[in-house]
Parts: sequence; structure tokens; C-alpha cells
Amino acid sequence: MDIVHLLPDHVANQIAAGEVIQRPASCLKELVENSLDAEATSIQVIVRDAGRTLLQVVDNGKGMSQTDARMAFERHATSKISKVDDLFSLRTMGFRGEALASICAVAQVEMTTRQENDEIGFRIEVDGSKVMEQEPCACSKGTSIKVKNLFYNVPVRRKFLKTDQTELRNLLTEFYHIVLVYPKVQFLFVHNDEILIDLPATTEKLRIQAVFGKGSHNYGAQLLDVATDTELVSIRGFVSKPETTGKNAQQYFFVNGRYMRHPYFHKAIMTAYSGMLPGEYNPTYFIYFDIDPQAIDVNIHPTKTEIKFSDEQAVFQILMAAVREALGKFSLAPTIDFDRSGEIEMPTRTAPAMGSATLPKAPTIQVDPHYNPFRTRQSAPRNWQTVYPDRPQEPVAEQLQLDAMPQITAPAYQYAGRYILQPTEKGLMVINQHRAHACILYSTLIEQLKNRQGTTQQLLFQEVLELTEAEQTILETIIGDLRSIGFVMDRFSKNAYSISGIPAQLSESDAVTVVQEIIRAVEETGADAAQQWQEQIALSMADTMAIPYGKTLSREEMQDLVSRLLALPVYERMPDGKKILTILSDDELQERI
Ligand code: ADP
Ligand code: MG
Repeated sequence: MDIVHLLPDHVANQIAAGEVIQRPASCLKELVENSLDAEATSIQVIVRDAGRTLLQVVDNGKGMSQTDARMAFERHATSKISKVDDLFSLRTMGFRGEALASICAVAQVEMTTRQENDEIGFRIEVDGSKVMEQEPCACSKGTSIKVKNLFYNVPVRRKFLKTDQTELRNLLTEFYHIVLVYPKVQFLFVHNDEILIDLPATTEKLRIQAVFGKGSHNYGAQLLDVATDTELVSIRGFVSKPETTGKNAQQYFFVNGRYMRHPYFHKAIMTAYSGMLPGEYNPTYFIYFDIDPQAIDVNIHPTKTEIKFSDEQAVFQILMAAVREALGKFSLAPTIDFDRSGEIEMPTRTAPAMGSATLPKAPTIQVDPHYNPFRTRQSAPRNWQTVYPDRPQEPVAEQLQLDAMPQITAPAYQYAGRYILQPTEKGLMVINQHRAHACILYSTLIEQLKNRQGTTQQLLFQEVLELTEAEQTILETIIGDLRSIGFVMDRFSKNAYSISGIPAQLSESDAVTVVQEIIRAVEETGADAAQQWQEQIALSMADTMAIPYGKTLSREEMQDLVSRLLALPVYERMPDGKKILTILSDDELQERI
């Protein structure tokens, strides 16, 4: 008896779907990318229950004919490539013709679509790869695809979905990756009938401001323009001014309109900043590469965000130089009020006589007419000496140089749920409460890591952590240290680990996020020696465990915190360079009032 047979299509599709569609966020990515490939200028994402019950994408793109609409759900049906060569000159987001086939294998899909010149549109319902209904229908130009009850027929996948909160966060992350590269497209994101994000068509900088600048009216003004054009690659984008460090550093690379992760290029940026501030510095950056598709590997897996460049070293150098230039210009001309209009091309503020309108590109050098090299040190550009290392060194004004522990002179007060105001004999010490606590925790954690003496609390229910291959590699490197500090982790399946115990000090709800955060930190800093990744582990854990902003502290708690902080060998800055405290001297105060 013969026993070999071909799998029925719907089974094959379901298996393949596992590769492409892992969670609602992967669905969102595929659908929105299709809308962009269809040249939509307005895209709405409508979600229910973090995408479990509904994920709908509505666009005003070019739509599909009846035949195409039916074809689109077949595996390897694509309008985007037809021969192998096309793969190497690809400019569209999708090309494998797998997404719709995969989605409809694991969900109930309803699509309506109409091309501009057709009077009547078409509606089709596909349920677990089977066409249930199809009929002409009246609908507006473009395409609407509803994905209902994702994984309704794949219980295992459904089980792997995280809480709504996590899945919603994954959806938004995916959404951000896309909206940041298509500022000219209008986007709307609705969750459970609530508009979460509403983005009008605009410029890149204003899109960034709209997405990340909430609550900070001058977010865009903290960004410096990066621009360079070489034969190999053209790089544009924004990096943060060295003074605007932060926990919420946003770090994004895009290549030819696609989000990518690139630890090596991340290093190029870190190198450009090196020496600008003591310690590890976490800059924000949004870098857009434009490169001949032939010079990058496009034949990547749809869920992978790593992209290979054929000449990575050269691009590294170009990127580093471009960021250096941006930072150098800033240090030399600190009084320039950065362009708030969000234009990508740099305006020429200096020489209207040059006839900049006729130039193909705005000049990349800005001259500040008010720049005075003899200005007093207080307003002198910060950090210039590190941009030009051969100039004589001078202590950075920002750096606190406390020679002895300041004596406390009166009880502390809390301010704005964020700062502890501690009178000392040197002046009013303003302490960031979260960082102070994190720094104290850090010093304990790093000791525990070194002495391998963590204690474990068992989790009631084990957590499962899904990881990409790159993340697994990192986890395998550091897992010994994680175990030594109290984590109980084991391989769960091919690309998942279980967590059944966590360090005693950690709260259960943080178990998964903290491990993810550690892996991300190790990856991003490129830590490759035990000491370096131990620091990252301790830092991430300390940051998670430390008292949050907004928490009211009693006088005793403040007292305890301050005395423990000041007892540390280094208490002015976090190990990653972030400032913990500053002192307002009486002189400084009197100068003001
Ligand atoms: P791919 O994007 O890799 O070609 P998909 O399965 O995502 O494969 O889509 C299959 C085809 O369906 C696309 O090539 C395109 O022709 C068509 N299509 C999908 N979504 C849309 C849309 N929103 N608007 C117009 N055409 C679409
Ligand atoms: Mg596609």
C-alpha cells in the first residue's frame, strides 16, 4: 500500500501560516504593507481585543479586479514579481504571495475591494482557506480586509498569544515601524472603538514628533539632522542631541522603506557618540537608508527584521561619519534653533545670496552668524572637545565633581512625584527617585551576579517566552548568569523558553518583560564579555524593580533612600551614564533670585 500523499492545500497553508503569521501583529504588518504596495494614501487599522477577534485594514489604494481578488488568496499568488531577477530589484514590501493565503488559512477573512474605474466592487469571504461566499458589491475605492477570530482553528497558536496588553503593544510596535517610513500616508489606529493614533499626512520629522513627542512640545527640536549622499548609500535621518539622554531612547533603522534591526550599525552610531558623555549613553535615532536593492539581501524571511548589506563596513563608516558631522555641527553652533517645520531638507539660514533654490541639495554646513568663539565658558558649546579629540581637554561643565559625601542639613521633600529635594551643606540636592533606587538595586544585583548567590521564587504558572533565533543565541550566552541570579529557565520548544522561577526580589508580572529587556539590552550594547552582559542584566533588572515615578514616598523612605544612595562609591550617575542627581548651590540660587 502506498502511504505517501500530498497534503491537502488547506493543511499545507496552515503549516506555512505558522511561519508568516505568528500573532495579530504579523497580520497587521502584512495587510498594511499590501495597502502601501497598492499605493494607498490613507490607511485605517481597526482592532478588537488586541486583534484576537478582529483586525481590519481599510485602504484607498488601487484595489483588485474580481479575478485578482479571488487569486490573491492562493499561495504564491502575487502581482509583484514574476521572475527570479525581479527579486533583486525589489521595491515593494511584499513579494512572496504568501500573506493572504496564510492569513485565510488560520482565520475567517472577509474582503471587499474596488478598482477606481470599476463601477461595482467585489466581496469575498474565505474561512480556513475555503471560499464561503463571493459576490459583486457596492463599496468605495480601495480594499478592506477583515481578519476575524485569528487562529480559531489552531488552538496551539491561540494559546501562545499573550495578554491583550502585550499583543496590543506588539501591534503598535509593528504599526510604528511602518508609519515612521510613510509620513505622507495618513494613518488611523482604532482599538475597541477608541482612536488610539490619528496621524495626518506630514513630513518625516513631524511624524516622529506626532508618534513620540507627546507631552513634549519640542521633541522635534531635540533632534539633529543627519544627511549624507554617497555612491553606495544615501543616509538621512535624525539623532538626538547629546544632552537629551533618556530611558525612552527610540532607536530605529529603516532601509528602503522597511524597518530593520542592525546591531552592527547601532555600534556605528554609538561610536559616533563615544566620548560625548561619560558612561554608556543611549541616544535616540531614526536613520533612513536608501540603497540599491541589489546591495542588500531582500530574500529575507517575512518575520525577520535583520537585513544583510553586501558592504556593511563601508556603510558603517559612512553612517558614523554622518552622525559625527551632525553632532559636530551641533557642538559648534549650539544656538541654532532647530528647524521646527519638519522639513527634511536642511534650510539654508545663512546665505540667501547663494541662490539655494537652484542647488540640487541644501548645503550641509550651517554657519551660526552669532557664534562667538570667545563666549564665556558657561554658554560655550558642550562636549566640543570630544568631537575634536586633539584639542586640549577641559572638564565637562555638566560633570559633577563631588569630592566628599555632602552632609545632609535638613529633612528631604518630594517634588512632582519624581524628585527628592535634599538640603545639604553644598546646596539643594535634587535627586531622581527612580534612578537613585535603581542605582542602589544595581549594586546589590551585580554583587549577587558575581558571587552567583541569587534566590529564587517559584512561579505559580510558568511563563513561556518566544524568541527569534538571534535572541536565542543571546539568551544561550547569558543563561548561566540569569540562573545564577535566580531565574529558572529551560528550553520549551524549538524557539521558546519556559520561565518557572524568578529572582526573589522581582515581581511575577515582570518575569517575561524583564528577560526580554535584558536580551534587548545585551543585543543593543553588543556586550560580548561576561562582565558587560552582567552589567546589562543588573541594569535592566534594577530599572524594572526600582520605585516608579509618581510614587509618593514617606519621609523615612526618602531618608533611607538618600543615605543608601550616598553610601555608594559612585552615586552621581548610573552605570550607563544617566545622571542621578544635581546640586543647586546657594550661589546659583542667589544669582536667580
Ligand atoms: P504579496 O504581497 O507578497 O504579493 P499577498 O498574499 O500579501 O502577497 O498579496 C497577494 C496579492 O494580492 C498582492 O500581490 C496584490 O496583488 C493583492 N493585494 C493584496 N492586498 C491588496 C490591497 N490592499 N490592495 C490591492 N491589492 C492587494
Ligand atoms: Mg503582501
